[in-house]
Amino acid sequence: MKSVETIVVGAGVIGMMSAWQLAKAGQQVLLIDANDLGQQASRCAAGMIGAQLEVAEPGPFFTLCKESRAMFPDLAEELRSLTGIDIELDTHGILWLSTSEKETLRFWNARHGKTYKGQAVLG
Ligand SMILES: Cc1cc2nc3c(=O)[nH]c(=O)nc-3n(C[C@H](O)[C@H](O)[C@H](O)COP(=O)(O)OP(=O)(O)OC[C@H]3O[C@@H](n4cnc5c(N)ncnc54)[C@H](O)[C@@H]3O)c2cc1C
Repeated sequence: MKSVETIVVGAGVIGMMSAWQLAKAGQQVLLIDANDLGQQASRCAAGMIGAQLEVAEPGPFFTLCKESRAMFPDLAEELRSLTGIDIELDTHGILWLSTSEKETLRFWNARHGKTYKGQAVLG
């Protein structure tokens, strides 16, 4: 067996992307999985890249999520040019209707990256 510099355990989207990026950076990478590749959580994902949907509070994690999402157009193009597969990235956003004032405030905070201290903006 050839020697490797890095072993990535788990070939879901996280492991595959990590292994790919490491290989692109010049590492000899071995990617292993106990099952078939990409058949666990990654297979079930609905495909939403919803920074504002997933994070309730502004902060470093929210910033990381938004910056990560901003990398998707380049990633989609790179994948298309390498594999011929169009991942059908849609950047038109997600419509999520709030059903309470509390939820509206949470959306406001997430949308504007700060706490809104006045009345909820309904509509
Ligand atoms: C129903 C559903 C809907 C989702 N929708 C979204 C969405 O819309 N947007 C979004 O961003 N996220 C969504 N997610 C979350 C997303 O799917 C996961 O965050 C993501 O797939 C995790 O990727 P992963 O590579 O870490 O895990 P996985 O895809 O689960 O990969 C882990 C791999 O590790 C392997 N493994 C585990 N233990 C071992 C071991 N001991 N030895 C060797 N291999 C091992 C497994 O076989 C598996 O292949 C959703 C998840 C679910 C379940």
